[in-house]
Amino acid sequence: MRYSRAFIPTLKEVPKDATMPSHVLMLRAGYARMVGAGIYELLPLGTRVLHKIERIIREEMDGAGAQEILMPTFVPSEYFKETGRWDLYGPTLLRIKDRKGGEYHLAPTHEEIVTDVVRREIKSYRQLPLNLYQIQLKYRDEPRPRAGLLRCREFIMKDAYSFDVSEEAALESYAQMRQTYHRIFQRLGLDYRVVEADSGAIGGKQSAEFQVLAQTGEDWIVACGACDYAANVEVAQAGRAEPPANQSTEPAALEKVETPDTRSIDEVVSFFGGQTTASHTLKSLLYAAGEEVVLAVVRGDHEINEIGLARHLGVEEVVLASDAAVKEATSTEIGFVGPVGFKGRVIADPDAVAVPNAIVGAGQTPYHYKNVNHGRDFEAEVVSIRQATSGDPCPNCDGKLELYRGIEGGHIFVLGTHYSDKMRATFLDEEGKSRSIVMGCYGIGVTRLIAAIMEQHHDEHGIRWPVQVAPYQVIVTPIGKDEAPLAKATEIYESLQAEGVEVLLDDRSERPGVKFKDADLLGIPVRITVGTRGLKQGTVELKKRTESESQDVPADDAAAAARAALVELAG
Ligand SMILES: [Zn+2]
Repeated sequence: MRYSRAFIPTLKEVPKDATMPSHVLMLRAGYARMVGAGIYELLPLGTRVLHKIERIIREEMDGAGAQEILMPTFVPSEYFKETGRWDLYGPTLLRIKDRKGGEYHLAPTHEEIVTDVVRREIKSYRQLPLNLYQIQLKYRDEPRPRAGLLRCREFIMKDAYSFDVSEEAALESYAQMRQTYHRIFQRLGLDYRVVEADSGAIGGKQSAEFQVLAQTGEDWIVACGACDYAANVEVAQAGRAEPPANQSTEPAALEKVETPDTRSIDEVVSFFGGQTTASHTLKSLLYAAGEEVVLAVVRGDHEINEIGLARHLGVEEVVLASDAAVKEATSTEIGFVGPVGFKGRVIADPDAVAVPNAIVGAGQTPYHYKNVNHGRDFEAEVVSIRQATSGDPCPNCDGKLELYRGIEGGHIFVLGTHYSDKMRATFLDEEGKSRSIVMGCYGIGVTRLIAAIMEQHHDEHGIRWPVQVAPYQVIVTPIGKDEAPLAKATEIYESLQAEGVEVLLDDRSERPGVKFKDADLLGIPVRITVGTRGLKQGTVELKKRTESESQDVPADDAAAAARAALVELAG
């Protein structure tokens, strides 16, 4: 492609609402544009990257024996009504009426449709196992679409569904997809962790997330430095933390201290000063759990695991009490709530009750207690209700856990017979007995991965695409006003093209600095610069996007050198 003819509308200004690197870069480098909130169009470069990712996914899915189909996005409501999801989905489901008043939705996921495909055609165990997948648009009316391609209302997903004769066979299909996902994520050049997950609304039995590590991710995960254990902080088993340092374990006399303007743990720590750290304090939060109000207590440097707390209480979810509710239940304000003298159910984490002489809210504004000891000053149900964090012991080995932020790039589930029971998708087994098909489902956020790759592969100058997903692998950049550089550059360009390399020829009449800046911004892995001075010595410059120094290569071997560099980069 000649740059002068390419549709690459770069921007100099960073859009104000864009803060995530991938969001800024995809707009600045002309990969995508916003059409509406959470709705994007991909421009030529973005579309090329999308196709690269899709090709890798297709190769690996086909290699695993899955077969591609294409289901509609515009779906009659009867299928979701059959499984109850028409009501369960709530406002996230985009609903449409046609001219006759018939109800439809734009599909957020396709379990029902694919189960319908299978129940019509599969009759016998001989036709199983089966794995069907598609790469297709999905719709979710997110309350807060944001961060460019990371959280959209319309996006492209790869979704696959496996169908097996038994739970055991379904677990084999699941394990095979897990391996397939490893290959896909590795080929995409991503640094990722596979984490145990809470299976959420889909209602699965076993599930795992493929989390792409990124400082800007929405999810918090812990991973072991020594083994491959990794889990979402919401489901990770928090071990026992080291006890707070510099603290006498001899119980001292309870003391009430006036502590104005100390609503947060940080404020409390700086108020008490000296060697006080967050681990010497207790964090007390009031939660509404169904009809009940409970006080949850964790150590000041820990976070409450709301999913674990809800599970312990046997409720669907717990909700942090409002200012008004706190005032009503404790007659104090948020920040001064505490377990001493609290009238009601107190649930405390083992690491919290182990703190000797703790500092806690006094249940009265604006006071804190000093030297609070569990057993003497308050009673509690002691249950692990904190999130795992950095430094926690690994539940699998002697290693320590490390806290990361992640972007969920893929999610795999064993669904069991949840959908096949409801939709009567059955088969006749070897004895001629009718049984429900056992299902699994496997998603990859394809457009989200475009952004996730950018989050991991960029620097202050722009994107640094891994070769396998770059929109063009090489950019050939003639500089200077003479005819010779353009002629030689065109020769290199044509020779690379003839060899099947995707190459961009920067034939624009721009200054060298502008061309170099754009090449860096677009993130093309290899740049060949052809200048008058070099040509006099028979050389051109070859520069990898990931390296700061360029190297001189013979002008006549430029195409071969570029191909060698690509092979090296693809490693
Ligand atoms: Zn470990």
